[in-house]
Amino acid sequence: MNLPKEIMRYCPKCNTHTKQKMTQYKAGKRRGSAIGERRHAEDKKGYGGQKFPKLAKPAKTTKKFTPILTCTICKKKWNKSGIRIRKVELVAK
Ligand SMILES: [Zn+2]
Repeated sequence: MNLPKEIMRYCPKCNTHTKQKMTQYKAGKRRGSAIGERRHAEDKKGYGGQKFPKLAKPAKTTKKFTPILTCTICKKKWNKSGIRIRKVELVAK
């Protein structure tokens, strides 16, 4: 599915319609030193260490696309609710 790179949309900060750039949300890089990661590694150690069954057959066949809208005037960002989609392309109109 093709989506526009830029859309005209209401900006609550500017209190008017402005041009807003659309980009895709990406999860940040996982840090091995984070407390949750360390705890998880500790729990998984040793005999019978697997905490939950590994997902053998995932129910979903698609990933969610979460757009981030950035106002070109005030640079404020918004996360829009994601849609399930197989493939997405951001194209200039
Ligand atoms: Zn704005």
